[in-house]
Amino acid sequence: MTEHDQRWREDLRAGVSRAADLDELPISEADREVAQRFKVRVPASQLERIDWRDPADPIRRQLLPSAEELVVLEGEREDPIGDLAHSPAPRVTHRYPDRALLYPTYVCSAYCRHCFRKESINDENAGFSREALGPALDYFASTPALREVILTGGDPFTLSDDQLSWLRARLDAIAHLRLLRVHTRVPVTLPTRVTPGLVDALRGRMMTAVVTHFNHPREISPEAVVACRRLREAGFMLLNQTVLLAGVNDDVETMRALLEELVYSLGAKPYYLHHCDLTRGVSHFRTSIDAGLEIMRALRGELSGLCQPTYVLDLPGGDGKVPLGPSWVRAREGDEWVFETPDGRAHGYCEVLRRGER
Ligand code: SF4
Repeated sequence: MTEHDQRWREDLRAGVSRAADLDELPISEADREVAQRFKVRVPASQLERIDWRDPADPIRRQLLPSAEELVVLEGEREDPIGDLAHSPAPRVTHRYPDRALLYPTYVCSAYCRHCFRKESINDENAGFSREALGPALDYFASTPALREVILTGGDPFTLSDDQLSWLRARLDAIAHLRLLRVHTRVPVTLPTRVTPGLVDALRGRMMTAVVTHFNHPREISPEAVVACRRLREAGFMLLNQTVLLAGVNDDVETMRALLEELVYSLGAKPYYLHHCDLTRGVSHFRTSIDAGLEIMRALRGELSGLCQPTYVLDLPGGDGKVPLGPSWVRAREGDEWVFETPDGRAHGYCEVLRRGER
């Protein structure tokens, strides 16, 4: 085993991985009980980053169980965005014509309390196996409209280098695929796992995009900076998706700091800001859509376009993502438009078109 691999394995080993490990931590009995219902795992390095004097610490709130997870509201769902409604083969979701999701594992390096696949990850203990992925690979090979496969989960970066390399080679062999996208929270919660070996395992024919999941500026550790630099230097596109989370990042200052640091410290383009889904047991994280729109409006004039994500809602049931405003159009009559400037003034604009172009 390399020195790099020893480091992340030790981080996992010394952290929380069983309900009994929570007994060592200063959390309430009621919060501890949640580990009987939902999986818990927190690497030691994340425990060390928590300010235990602060009950609202953003890393604690995202990674340590809370009794609030047992609250289920009417309208919340087990499969909030309809992954199962669009599953033509085991471990596949195919919602849009040109891209499909593949779940190579249901294991994560840390279990996020706000996870939108909370139930499926909890119920599904399956890890990686070549046999289990056979029908998915056959489906991709026989679906020529596909251009992009998105590895998600679970966390694909919990696979071994050999498993990743095997999967990469199998997908590269399907000629109509053009892009491999990997959704991972490992650069946040176990950044030392982004080893030179993992990066090599990810290299191949197709263009590669790695989409990280940072939700708070405090998650940008020195190790995360190294991990993201390694991914960029390998030539992978680096993007980030954030979930809007009450008590974590639902204020303009925190969101601004996060979006700036993603670009300026990590070189990761903010891709989506997700409105928190209707997952069961995450209502304590869910803000109103109005709150999200207000944050996006406040950031528009202040942040570079490179730092701006698209705020989206994944429609329940599997109908896909819709971008959420805010709208900058105040009024329109024919060619005459009235826009709102980022600082709140009205600005008239008259379209100038060649005759007959409308
Ligand atoms: S790493 Fe991703 S899939 Fe795993 S628990 Fe967190 S949000 Fe869910």
